[in-house]
Amino acid sequence: MKFVFKWNIVVKLIITAVFLMSMNVMGAAKKQKDYSVKPVPFTDVRVNDIFWAPRMETNRTVTIPFAFKKCEETGRINNFSKAAGMMEGKFEGYRYNDSDVYKVMEGASYSLSLHPDPKLEKYMDDLIAKVVAAQEDDGYLYTSRTIDPDHPAAGAGDKRWSNLGVSHELYCAGHMYEAAVAYYLATGKRSFLDVAVKNADLIDRVFGPDKQHGVPGHQEIEIGLAKLYRVTGNEKYLRLAKFFLDERGRNQKLKIYPKSSNFAVYSELEYLQSHKPVIEQREAVGHAVRAGYMYSGMADVAALTGDKDYISAIDRIWENVVTKKLYLTGGIGARHEGEAFGDNYELPNRTAYNETCAAIANAMWNHRLFLLHSDAKYIDVLERIVYNGLISGVSLSGDRFFYPNPLESDGKYKFNQGELTRKPWFDCACCPGNITRFLPSFPGYIYAQKGDIIYINLFVQSSSTIEIDGNRINIGQETRYPWDGAVKIAVDPERSGKFALYIRIPGWAQGNPVPGDLYGYKEKSDGEVVLKVSGKKCRIDTNKGFARIRRRWEKGDKVEILFPMQVRRVLCNEKVEENLGKVALERGPVVYCLEDADNNGHVLELSLPDDSVLEAEYCGDKLGGIMLIKGECAALDSVKEGKQLRKKFTAIPYYVWGHRGAGEMAVWIPRKK
Ligand SMILES: [Zn+2]
Repeated sequence: MKFVFKWNIVVKLIITAVFLMSMNVMGAAKKQKDYSVKPVPFTDVRVNDIFWAPRMETNRTVTIPFAFKKCEETGRINNFSKAAGMMEGKFEGYRYNDSDVYKVMEGASYSLSLHPDPKLEKYMDDLIAKVVAAQEDDGYLYTSRTIDPDHPAAGAGDKRWSNLGVSHELYCAGHMYEAAVAYYLATGKRSFLDVAVKNADLIDRVFGPDKQHGVPGHQEIEIGLAKLYRVTGNEKYLRLAKFFLDERGRNQKLKIYPKSSNFAVYSELEYLQSHKPVIEQREAVGHAVRAGYMYSGMADVAALTGDKDYISAIDRIWENVVTKKLYLTGGIGARHEGEAFGDNYELPNRTAYNETCAAIANAMWNHRLFLLHSDAKYIDVLERIVYNGLISGVSLSGDRFFYPNPLESDGKYKFNQGELTRKPWFDCACCPGNITRFLPSFPGYIYAQKGDIIYINLFVQSSSTIEIDGNRINIGQETRYPWDGAVKIAVDPERSGKFALYIRIPGWAQGNPVPGDLYGYKEKSDGEVVLKVSGKKCRIDTNKGFARIRRRWEKGDKVEILFPMQVRRVLCNEKVEENLGKVALERGPVVYCLEDADNNGHVLELSLPDDSVLEAEYCGDKLGGIMLIKGECAALDSVKEGKQLRKKFTAIPYYVWGHRGAGEMAVWIPRKK
């Protein structure tokens, strides 16, 4: 055969090699250390259930376009056009408003990964063109300064990086990296990722052990840098993430400007978790969203570097949260002041802050802890968050949002940032954008894999294909969870093979609402979890909360699991003064509340007798289809001739409260013995 030297191929190869080296993708090809358990990516899981699929669809068709429209109306997107010189005018809004746009862009990217949509992709490309143009030549990107560097927005600092405690320059960068990576993975288009890389390179030139020191006032860049490292393989981003974490508690000369009352809170080092080096922290303190992002960032850096000190620190802090600072709804952040964690056992109901973003941060953190430790207890917490205090943050219609998520309302008490009902938008609009990115990425929490083990973490009607040693295994779940406890799992390998299926047995199904003694069920469950493999009942062999089934699987194998879905009364640790003498209701993973709309206009004077029989009843046409709990309660004013009269009550899942106007609501109800 005649040898033909093809120059065009050689040139192409050289260009490709130079490109790969410049991106350090060669490094990425080198196996990176990462979490020992790998989540099955949300892009590989198809959800078609009755609970999540409609919410994901509403997020795609309503929430994402709605949030972009709000970003347009409020000048958030114009800020990029102005910074790019495409438009005249001053910066509008708060100094960190760029981050809201990035979060919706991240959500839109995830949505595009699941559901191609040329119109949305075109919108994203146009928006990215503005972001590209708004970036300064050296990579700096922060429209609140670029538009008019002599008059930056309040709190931005008079020079770049001069007011890190307050400016959110690095926070915005972190959200931008997350969005850019998401869009790159969704479409393969590089322009947004190039913006992120150029910006991170600038920050890496400015900050470091031998360069400028500084503590980002609001954590987030650490998570973004870890993602940028994963996609580019460039270790300097990982080193930079670790540098910013290690700066905390060591660089106490945090300059806060101006020292006005508006910014006073930023000067408290506990508020931004910079009171101690991160590896010495033991208790969750300060602003709950900052904290949740920091613990998640520490988990990422620990997974990517093997740093054990980070892991012991976040393990200790997790113990503190789940045993002393976690609401029954999975919410965190008890206080309005500083949107912060309270003291141990400080869990007020009516004034509970429980920011929607904090619930999302808490879910992200618990998922990462599961990936580090392969223990189901973290998924128990995650499940509690996602079915309760997280989705309460968005209305069923997808265009109204709660910022705080209290556990009680008198229909009058107003919140910092909040109102009595869900609002279309906020001046500080962190929560809606966070919802847009959480929902499409939700399928990524359902399955995971480690070697020849497939984990089923959440029970959601869905399907996926997971590969073990070249054998493609189709996994499918059929269920009406959380309303029904029956889950049918189809395990369908391409060819017969030995591997393990680990199915989470939720803490709630074993008598523990959450790990630790913060909450407990009043009665032992009289139902048991039933597991059948190929029709035969099996003994449940659990380890770290998972029922383990290791065997040779054949095409068409089936596993059935039945969780006892009884109505349960929950009691709180007596150290929580607020809940003394009170009881809450749960069924499966769902926490309930009483709302006035179902109970003749009042719920705060009701009490629940211990002997009241409680029954569940599905109502398909109410609030998106929900299971109700019905029973008899006692009203404080209904004592006649020394006898307490009883009346009927109806409880609804907490996550749908607030859809029928402002009014009374309570999760914890006085208990009548
Ligand atoms: Zn928020």
